[in-house]
Amino acid sequence: MENCIFCKLVAKQIPASVVHEDEHTLAFMDLGQVNPGHVLVAAKKHADNIYGLDETQAAAVFRTAANVARALRAAFEPQGLSVYQANGKAAGQTVFHFHIHLVPRYEGDGMELTWPVKNPPREKLAESAERIKAKLA
Ligand SMILES: [Zn+2]
Repeated sequence: MENCIFCKLVAKQIPASVVHEDEHTLAFMDLGQVNPGHVLVAAKKHADNIYGLDETQAAAVFRTAANVARALRAAFEPQGLSVYQANGKAAGQTVFHFHIHLVPRYEGDGMELTWPVKNPPREKLAESAERIKAKLA
């Protein structure tokens, strides 16, 4: 896709520190590096977000994420690992080409994600589950 920075990375039009590449995925170092070892796993074929992934891409990006996560753990020995994936501006997505962040984590590293639980009653959960199930492909 024209003017997409990750498409340009995939096409090798701009440089990246590549960790892994296969038919469907490219894993490379995030320029921002929240912590050392911060990797992005992107689908090679452009999809704006998770909604646009086909089944082959979906399987490939999560397979690569798991493989790279194990290598990252062995290389950096972080205390934890956050897997972060955003879809849409409201979710914090800034590059609109599907990617997964693998962020090595340490106590007190400053990365925060608030988790404002609402604890709805069970009936509400069942109702929500039915709404989603009715739309599954
Ligand atoms: Zn793209």
